[in-house]
Amino acid sequence: MSETIYLDNNATSQIDEAVLAAMIPVLQHTGNASSVHEMGRAARAKVDSARSQVADLVGASAAEVVFTSGATEANNLAIKGVMNLTSNPPAGVGARDEVITSTIEHPSVRESVESLSNSGYKVIIVGVDGAGQIALQQLRSAVSERTALVSVIAANNETGAIAPMNDVIDIARGVGALVHTDATQLMTWGFPGAWVTEADLVSLSAHKMHGPQGIGALIVRRAVQSRLRPVAHGGGHERGLRSGTLNAAGIVGFGAAAKLAISMGAASVAATQRRRDQLETTLRHKLGSESVLLNGHRVRRLPGTLNVSIAGVDAEALVATTPEVAMSTGSACSEGVPGSSEVLRAMRLPEDRCASAVRLSLSRSTTDRDIAIAADIISQRVVALRVRMNSTVTR
Ligand code: PMP
Repeated sequence: MSETIYLDNNATSQIDEAVLAAMIPVLQHTGNASSVHEMGRAARAKVDSARSQVADLVGASAAEVVFTSGATEANNLAIKGVMNLTSNPPAGVGARDEVITSTIEHPSVRESVESLSNSGYKVIIVGVDGAGQIALQQLRSAVSERTALVSVIAANNETGAIAPMNDVIDIARGVGALVHTDATQLMTWGFPGAWVTEADLVSLSAHKMHGPQGIGALIVRRAVQSRLRPVAHGGGHERGLRSGTLNAAGIVGFGAAAKLAISMGAASVAATQRRRDQLETTLRHKLGSESVLLNGHRVRRLPGTLNVSIAGVDAEALVATTPEVAMSTGSACSEGVPGSSEVLRAMRLPEDRCASAVRLSLSRSTTDRDIAIAADIISQRVVALRVRMNSTVTR
């Protein structure tokens, strides 16, 4: 097969060689990290060291890391774990029955919150502006003494929009609510800022940062560990918050990926941004600047994310006819259309703009050459699709 230019890093990223090398001996080792014999203790030692590496990425202590199967599970645990306890609050925690989130959350947050709403909890969903930035004023008016939890995505997977987490935390704290953030897309770029140590609950996933799939974590700050109920019951692993035999190799890979994110993430931001902007500029140059429209915030955005609508082109058709470049569609955004983009709809983009939206997401290892080739191929296919569409219309 000829070379594919991989520009779908927000979906999953290539496992780093160093991550793989760290994982292989753990996969080959027999021993349950919970067993007390020597082989179990050897596995536990590897897990402990990886736990510290993941903790370092978010300024946490090792005891605040709860390993999960990924960010989906971490988001479920954060939201259901907090809310399930508020229905039966321990002494000192008032009966709060309300959760607040935004219209641009990952489905694992959106649907967790929806399930709570079906169980009788009060749910408030705060909107975003046309650039996908959370409406802080709406959040300010929504919070109250009833709010148990505010859950806001730190960086959106579709548009790359980065949330003003300092403000979100201040607003939630003002009414004594806990804060959860899905920081899955942010962490590949290194330590996100001091705010992350203020968030009570932080969801992470290894495969968005050059680690393996199927492993993630919920950071649960020490002060809130007693305010969370487990979702998976069993052997009492992870301080009783997530039962199940530890995925030792996955955890070690996650630790190695976290270490690389610390050493390489922030250092690669400027070059990645430059390549991403070069991709946009080249597409505009080749296709006409009026016909390439940026979806999302130009500045408050992940370094590698470019979500653009290309006028006159169906994004599904573009992806299908461009196998040389791995990219995602923004997808339709009308209500009820299967696979439609809730995020672009929340930004109130018109239907034709959603249907022509593609997401191109770079990693720290994307090269100038990748960008030049991708821009070339995409432009050629857009031109061909436009010709095909015009001939269909006139026929
Ligand atoms: N949150 C965000 C923002 C994501 O992009 C993803 C992955 N698409 C997830 C959560 C789910 O992560 P995982 O695949 O580890 O369950």
